[in-house]
Formats: sequence, C-alpha cells, structure tokens
Amino acid sequence: MPAIINFKICDNAKECSGIAICPTKAMHYDEEKQTIVIDKDKCTSCGLCRPECPIGAIQVGRTDEEYQQCQKEIAEDPRTIKDLFVDRYGASPIFEFFMINNDQLDEKIQNENITLIEVYNPIEAQCLLKSIPIKDLTDEMERDVQYYKLVPSDDVKIKYAINELPSLLIFRAGDLLGMIKGYYNIEQIDEMKSLVKGFTKNLS
Ligand code: SF4
Repeated sequence: MPAIINFKICDNAKECSGIAICPTKAMHYDEEKQTIVIDKDKCTSCGLCRPECPIGAIQVGRTDEEYQQCQKEIAEDPRTIKDLFVDRYGASPIFEFFMINNDQLDEKIQNENITLIEVYNPIEAQCLLKSIPIKDLTDEMERDVQYYKLVPSDDVKIKYAINELPSLLIFRAGDLLGMIKGYYNIEQIDEMKSLVKGFTKNLS
C-alpha cells in the first residue's frame, strides 16, 4: 500500500523532507498540479518518509487494514492548516504586528497587565511546526497578556542580562518579573506554562 499524506495539516511544500528521502521518487512534487503526490506504483511502503514529517502528516500502512486505519485517522483529525500557522515561541514570526523594535520596548512593557517579550535570533529560528503556539502558552492565564517578538540589541541584552536566545521576558508595569531562558518545543508546553505561571501567580 502507498504512503498517504494528511493534507489537512500538510503545508504542501516542495521542500518536503519526505520527498528528499524517498528512494524510489514515489513521493514527488507535481509542478502542474502544484501539490505533493505519491505514485502508488513506485511506493514500496518502506516507511522512510514517515518520520521525516515533523507533525506526522505522512502515514504509511503496509497492509489493507493498516492503510484503512491511516485513512480513518486522517478523516478524524480535527486539525487544519490554519491551526499550524500561528506565532510560536522560538520560530519565525508569522504576523508582523507581533514584532517590535528595540526603541518600542520601554513603551510596550509599561502595561498594567502581563507583557511577554520573546527575544530571539532570526538566524536560529526553530521549526515552526515543532514550536509552542503562543496562544496555547497564554490561554490559561487569568490576566490579559500582551505578547511581542523582538530581536534584541546589545544594549537590551546587557540591560536585562539576556545571555541565551530565545528567551521569554515577563513584564508587568515596567518591572521584569522573570525570564525563561532557552527554547522549549511543543512537547515541553506544560513545563513552559508552569514556569510562566510561577512568575505571575502572586500578582494582585
Ligand atoms: S513509503 Fe518509501 S517509497 Fe513510499 S513514498 Fe515513503 S519513502 Fe517513498
């Protein structure tokens, strides 16, 4: 049985690493149709492509039964491509309005509610699909939360003792409540949520 792609969550990019690894060229990008396709006559069900997709959009069922199970799981998957293209910690920005420059920092952190400033290095941006959606990080917080991304200047790094990128700085009314250093991926979301909560739980 051929590999099967869950197009509900596939970004359908020519750069798909499943295409790159496929030894028989069964998986390829059809320029005319502008989509990834799998040639069922060439696919050997070797399974090499499956782990290449960071979000599990490629499935391989070697028997009829397994293939039907893959089709069922895809049909029942509630995710959509829209869910994946949201701003995420450590990943490249999706929406420009989350970006601020260093001159805006002082003004943005004066908010009486929580302001999260993610400082990051665009050259080392992490995989979008493996990173934590900001909305999931903040949805259980009791206060309103503002969030911005910033590529920090040397002055900002010195001022806030930032020695690791990305880091998440947590401010309220101009005060730095805390900083979470380093990258956390989607599997570490509970750990990161708990760290953010730890810095904000005793606020009046
Ligand atoms: S299962 Fe193997 S042959 Fe089939 S598309 Fe994936 S890598 Fe190619």
